[in-house]
Amino acid sequence: MTEKLNETQISRRKFLKTTTLTLTGGAVAFGGISVVAFKKDQLQLRPPGALAEELFLASCIKCGQCLQVCPPQVVKLAGISQGFGIGTPYIVPREGACILCSGLPCVLACPTGALDHALSLGKDASMGLAVLTNPDTCLSILGVNDLIYQLKNLQKNKKTSLDQIQLKEILTSLIKRMSENEKKTWQKKFVLKDISENTLMEGVKKIKKMDLQWIINFVSSSGQARTACQVCLDECPIKDEKPIVFLRKTDAETGRDYIYPSVSKTCVGCGVCEQKCPTTIASIKITPRLEWSKNIT
Ligand code: SF4
Ligand code: SF4
Ligand code: SF4
Repeated sequence: MTEKLNETQISRRKFLKTTTLTLTGGAVAFGGISVVAFKKDQLQLRPPGALAEELFLASCIKCGQCLQVCPPQVVKLAGISQGFGIGTPYIVPREGACILCSGLPCVLACPTGALDHALSLGKDASMGLAVLTNPDTCLSILGVNDLIYQLKNLQKNKKTSLDQIQLKEILTSLIKRMSENEKKTWQKKFVLKDISENTLMEGVKKIKKMDLQWIINFVSSSGQARTACQVCLDECPIKDEKPIVFLRKTDAETGRDYIYPSVSKTCVGCGVCEQKCPTTIASIKITPRLEWSKNIT
């Protein structure tokens, strides 16, 4: 079955490669319109494999195939008001980042090679680079645990009912980080039948706003509370490539030690760190098309 699938994928790639040249030739004519509309100061994050911007605009035929096959549905098509390559695909990381999904279906689906068919692995995509644009709000530098920060924000919300979507996101991370003993404490508090992750997650439905203070105290006394935020690295789809390294520094004025996220050359600019960064305005942001140099962060 796997062999068959691979054969199909390979012949699809071959088909796409042979049609690329023919179609690109035609697309250049359409591209003229896009190049006029494209404003250089509005570089957008393109899907993986996008050719250099002007070549991309000349090659993309605005068919929307990449958008249709994207599993998390994060690819958007530029509208007339946006003024950059109308109908071309782009991604807004804070709203939904590219997860570099297996097989890069957007690249495979692109009929012209505007998304380069030579790209087959997410770790080789070159979309841009993450930059720590707001170090002043970065929880890692401030020495703040991300879960405690988010729980306190949730508690401040004036609504009487809890934001269930946000709560579920926070508790999914919390449950993954709990020790066995912490799971047992949680099981007892919310009267759950066992400590499997599924059961602990089911228990989320029982949580009321008045339970938040208990949860904040629970996290504050847990082992992981001593760890400042590292969400950008933890959530990165290619974290094994070490695209972010946490480095230690000492504040010259206060003498306080802290760690900070330093982006390395293996970052491909997918945007997941920007999407998941828990601060109100993302502390880390993607600069599309930026190439790595040692001086970025
Ligand atoms: S790699 Fe996957 S998630 Fe990223 S844009 Fe392509 S289809 Fe969407
Ligand atoms: S996700 Fe990264 S950049 Fe954002 S607050 Fe946490 S450590 Fe800082
Ligand atoms: S650090 Fe990781 S999550 Fe952030 S843009 Fe780079 S590759 Fe994507």
